[in-house]
Amino acid sequence: MAKTSGHVLHHCCTANLPSNQPPAPVTGKYQQPQQYDQAQRRLDPDQIPNPMSVIIENQKNAGGAFITNEQGLLPPLVTTKYVVEDQGNSSPRYVRSSLYCIPATADLLKTTALSSTLAVSPMARTVEGEYEPPIVNFGELGAIRCNRCKAHMQLVDAGRRFQCLMCKVTTDVPTAYFQHLGHTGQRVDKYERPELVLGT
Ligand SMILES: [Zn+2]
Repeated sequence: MAKTSGHVLHHCCTANLPSNQPPAPVTGKYQQPQQYDQAQRRLDPDQIPNPMSVIIENQKNAGGAFITNEQGLLPPLVTTKYVVEDQGNSSPRYVRSSLYCIPATADLLKTTALSSTLAVSPMARTVEGEYEPPIVNFGELGAIRCNRCKAHMQLVDAGRRFQCLMCKVTTDVPTAYFQHLGHTGQRVDKYERPELVLGT
């Protein structure tokens, strides 16, 4: 049981708390330090992961080749030496997420209190064994993107139109960029066009 002597209790911060919990901190206002039991405050060092062993363990388990479209595979840690094979998703050198299990709803995200962010490093260097991202130049035509929000899109309507993955708007494929779809629903020139195959 936490001692609360010396702490000013406000209705606003105690109303929803179970009686055996310490009162919630009052934000925006100085409050006296709470006097919890020493045992409750002390962290058990055995429960805290040792950063060095996490780094060594990850190098052992995730070092070497990292193939970007393998389901359920987490990117290696930044400290791990790895060689990326871009198979449709960007290398974690360029884009890295703070979460790799994404809460399905905004409510759930709020409940977990985890921040969902992306670290984007477009100028990151490749390492030996990786190729530099190819440069795609459409000249006058410009990059093939959503007219409305500039996001990337998915081919629909036998390759004649694109549907935006973000805002769902559809756009005609420019005549100069049109190509038929094969029996798998993929463009027949897919493997000749890096922008259709690679993440970066
Ligand atoms: Zn869009």
